[in-house]
Amino acid sequence: MLFKDVVGHSETKKHLIEGVKKNRISHAQMFLGSEGGGNYQLALAYAQYVNCETPKEDDSCGGCPSCIKYQNFQHPDLNFFFPSAVSKEVKTQPSSKKLTKQWIEFSKEKEYFELSDWTDYIGAGEKLSIINKLDSQDIIKSLILKNYEAKFKVVIIWWPEKMNTDCSNKILKVLEEPNPNSLFLLVGHNSDELLATIISRVQIIKLNNLTDKEIITGLIEKEGVPDDLAESLAMMAAGNFNKALQLVKNPDGDEKFIELFQTWMRLCYVVDFLNLDKLIENIHKMGRIKQKEFLEYGLRVFRECMIYNYANPELNRLHQKEAIFNKKFAKFIHGGNIMEIIEVFEHTHTAILRNAYAKIAFMNLSLKVCNYLKCKP
Ligand SMILES: [Zn+2]
Repeated sequence: MLFKDVVGHSETKKHLIEGVKKNRISHAQMFLGSEGGGNYQLALAYAQYVNCETPKEDDSCGGCPSCIKYQNFQHPDLNFFFPSAVSKEVKTQPSSKKLTKQWIEFSKEKEYFELSDWTDYIGAGEKLSIINKLDSQDIIKSLILKNYEAKFKVVIIWWPEKMNTDCSNKILKVLEEPNPNSLFLLVGHNSDELLATIISRVQIIKLNNLTDKEIITGLIEKEGVPDDLAESLAMMAAGNFNKALQLVKNPDGDEKFIELFQTWMRLCYVVDFLNLDKLIENIHKMGRIKQKEFLEYGLRVFRECMIYNYANPELNRLHQKEAIFNKKFAKFIHGGNIMEIIEVFEHTHTAILRNAYAKIAFMNLSLKVCNYLKCKP
């Protein structure tokens, strides 16, 4: 991938390129940023740049043998490690190596993606995906072999948060004393979930969230989206370029949640436990990935309420059905409860990702929301 094809992050790109020119290349780096924000894409562009045979002033050449292999995700000195799970293709003892072929096909198909896109792709569905002991053995094995042809053998670990303890412990040593011709690029999303021992051994490249402006430019350049549509999609995507691309393909992507969310909030307001219980039963059946998306949808509605109350209602980007509801609902969301509401939603989001029992998590959340909706501004 070329730097120019990565949306936004212009300052970080400059900084990375400058480092390579001055021969300051740290052997273990972590590109830390939110999902869909381009941290994986930036790590790939960086790896391609350090190995490019005829680099240009501000990007890889895109045409040398190394670049061509990189762009096809098939360079003998480029190794990918990522969460895997028992899936359609691999029935027992899953590992990154066993799924590399699928990973390459997936990477060619989708320029931007999230963990749930990958687990959907391999048919792992709701199963927990991890980077395991087999992967750590393969990482170490790949480093023992001499580089085939590249200046730097690159090991990209996508979602190092998903390494199990066994794997983390095994790779600590290689992070500490890396082979001089190797480059470890970790692509992380949440530093709270990473072992301190891993964090202390890597140089962190912290990426800012993409701005609406960067997403708008990306949508116009990559997808040819008209300016005004790009503007409204960027607003809904909230820094996640993958989400913005999904919305281009399916602008009503959130529609399935509109009614469910509105009913939920009405039941919380009137504290109707009997019907809340039935509604939560339905949420429970949706499965973890949809539950996560539903909570993200809720956070977006609250943000729109705050914009309606405190900024300019004209800045709201809502479906008609949402706009009608929000006009009445917005007065219940204000400075007196917004921080608490965001916190409990985010807490539930994390709990769901960690496989909490959804029925209990959503009932706890509902009880809290019942109280917060009664708060005075
Ligand atoms: Zn090149």
